[in-house]
Amino acid sequence: MADDAVNTPSTAAPLTVAVIGSGPAGFYTAGALLEQSGVPVRVDLYERLATPWGLVRAGVAPDHPKIKAVASVYAVTAADERFRFFGNVEVGRHVSREELVARYDVVVYTVGAQGERRLGIPGEDLPGSVPAVDVVGWYNGHPDFADRAPDLSGRRAVVIGAGNVALDVARILCSPVERLAATDIADHALDVLRASTLEEVVVVGRRGPAQAAFTTAELRELPEFTGSAVDVDPAEVEAQPGEEKLSRLILRNLAILRGYAAASQSAAGPASAGRRRMALRFLRSPVEIRGEGRVAEVVFARNRLEVDAEGWVSAVDTGEREVVEADLVVRAVGYKGLPLVGLPFDERRGIIPNDAGRVAGADREYVAGWIKRGPTGIIGTNRKCAVETVATLLADVAEGRLAHHPGAGGVDPVGEAESWLRERQPDLVTEAGWRLIDAAERASGEPAGRPRVKLTTLGALVDTALNRTLTV
Ligand code: NAP
Repeated sequence: MADDAVNTPSTAAPLTVAVIGSGPAGFYTAGALLEQSGVPVRVDLYERLATPWGLVRAGVAPDHPKIKAVASVYAVTAADERFRFFGNVEVGRHVSREELVARYDVVVYTVGAQGERRLGIPGEDLPGSVPAVDVVGWYNGHPDFADRAPDLSGRRAVVIGAGNVALDVARILCSPVERLAATDIADHALDVLRASTLEEVVVVGRRGPAQAAFTTAELRELPEFTGSAVDVDPAEVEAQPGEEKLSRLILRNLAILRGYAAASQSAAGPASAGRRRMALRFLRSPVEIRGEGRVAEVVFARNRLEVDAEGWVSAVDTGEREVVEADLVVRAVGYKGLPLVGLPFDERRGIIPNDAGRVAGADREYVAGWIKRGPTGIIGTNRKCAVETVATLLADVAEGRLAHHPGAGGVDPVGEAESWLRERQPDLVTEAGWRLIDAAERASGEPAGRPRVKLTTLGALVDTALNRTLTV
């Protein structure tokens, strides 16, 4: 972040910024604003849930504590006296976008991509076919998904998609429960996983192994985490078209997949005794999900790859069909951003159109994270994304495009916003309230050596934050 002094708005009062959404993009935006010294700022971070951190709490898999450790960076931001957390406040319900724009000099939307991409095939909504967002939210104790337990009473689960979310879901479904029991996975998920009768989880990609969106660490850890070999068909991972031009990341992934394929061929076979088998399959697109009243099988089209003049590799239906029995289908084909009332929206990409973070056609409104660029990249990608947005915002200040507007201009900022919000949402959760939740969860995890035991209902979270007697 450039530290150069810029023309601050006309008064010495700090620039007041509301950031909407407290996931990685929200915290990195707040952090980048507070770290720079050219423009005095105050940041209020609004969050629909009672807890901060977005996907770091509710998306990152519970068996990936190292990825979650990034939350300590967010805690540093939250400790800044120019920062406030306003949790359990929904924009569009408790407060409107217009009110925020009227009260703050700047509003930055970092709301992520809360929708799911659809397959658009018959049978997609049969009972037993569920979006990965439900399963991830469920095992991570997100209050909105606590009752979305997938039915694990069958034999085979098919996970559609070849990205990291597909691997997360497959790995959690295959992992020994005693391993998961040491994590912060929701207790309700542990109970269901303990009773699971699944024997096999098959992850299916529509293109080839070289086009899969897995990152190497996530692919490599599978046998160690699940305690079982990973079944890969050697024929599917042999020499790939244009292999000499593939990136190092993809070549590393191919080497891992070939190692799995070789082990699958060995005398020991793919499944270790008592463990669930995980299989990775490629070049298959689901064309129909069938069953009488619930999922029984998935019809896949067998694909071949076609490379266009720009080098883009697409899957082309060969006309051949394959029917795979399935008791559960998890659709892990990506997230999708949702529109925000009053802001422009690009339906196809699921983003708010913007120029380096400045919302198209808007004056004092910005975006960062998945709602700015689409649901791609790892947690850290959002840092770069937020830094770019903040640089745009500061450049706008420097060019005089962001003078304090009447009604905001640092008139509030301390105190008044809080009483305004409490009128709208008596169960407002502030940073102090979140610290009570955090302490309570960590304390209940401690006896079992777990990082925390999550509170998974809004009632329990709010009661803890407000130090009320727990409602049952
Ligand atoms: P993703 O990486 O975009 O993967 C989506 C997968 O779904 C792709 O394989 C895609 O295939 C496939 N797909 C899309 N439409 C399909 C269709 N109609 N039929 C069949 N397959 C279809 O999305 P994601 O897995 O949801 O992950 C989102 C982001 O979060 C990614 O950037 C990911 O790396 C990140 N993430 C990271 C971690 C981690 O670092 N541990 C964990 C979870 C998520 P095509 O390529 O052919 O479109």
